[in-house]
Amino acid sequence: MRLLEGKNAVIFGVANDKSIAYAISKLFKENGANLGFTYAGEALKKRVEPISEELGGKFCIQCDVSKDEDILSSAQKAKELFGKVDIIVHSVAYAPAEALKGRFVDTPREGFKIALDISAYSLVAICKAYEEILSDNASIVTMTYYGSVKVVQNYNVMGVAKAALESSVRYLANDLGPKGVRVNAISAGPIKTLAASGISGFKSILSQIEEKAPLKKNVTQEDVAKAALFLCSDLGSGVTGDILYVDSGYNILGL
Ligand code: NAD
Repeated sequence: MRLLEGKNAVIFGVANDKSIAYAISKLFKENGANLGFTYAGEALKKRVEPISEELGGKFCIQCDVSKDEDILSSAQKAKELFGKVDIIVHSVAYAPAEALKGRFVDTPREGFKIALDISAYSLVAICKAYEEILSDNASIVTMTYYGSVKVVQNYNVMGVAKAALESSVRYLANDLGPKGVRVNAISAGPIKTLAASGISGFKSILSQIEEKAPLKKNVTQEDVAKAALFLCSDLGSGVTGDILYVDSGYNILGL
């Protein structure tokens, strides 16, 4: 059974074929969705356009989520080509490299602002820009990490940004719920991607999961994609404002 037959999905956050958003897009395509892609900047165009072609993307345009005008023009494009949008995948995060090592207390004001703007506020801005073209039972999904609720070494300001993102999910779910629109986050375990390569000591986080998590293995992009399929299909019809852990169960452990 194809769970997303004829649904229109706009994807934010494909950088390459290791991106979580790529695995989600692939599974959504296999399940009958029409896809529209956005990419952060000119440098990524040559990577994302072939992916859009591979997955039959209906459009592929630049959208730097720190710019309201880019978000608005992506919504305009989606309106032209799709009419209504049923699914938004927000799989975007960024913090300046120097904010992802050392002590959190040393985070400069500018680094804090950038991390929160791109990694958390962008979800709010996207929801606002797309609100009028969202279908009545649309589903929005974003990606978060356990560093939002517990101190994870070197995750620093990104943990604070993810906490803001998770809280935003709840407020957005409450605002958009009366229209039938659902907003959820997936809290993914660590996965080797471009974004993850910016976190110092990432390898040791991966080996800790293998050693300690109930499932004794790391999750894959495909594991996360399956959870996104659940949340964005009718199977998730009663779920909103939730943070769904896809992390081999690591988050349930105490010391
Ligand atoms: P990735 O590097 O493939 O994806 C991150 C994306 O963010 C990239 O496509 C990048 O272009 C985009 N981005 C950054 N700044 C942007 C901007 N200004 N405008 C538009 N796009 C911008 O890495 P990923 O691991 O697939 O990350 C996707 C999401 O998953 C992120 O939110 C990340 O925090 C989250 N996440 C990742 C892991 C992990 O271990 N990889 C774990 C939990 C959550």
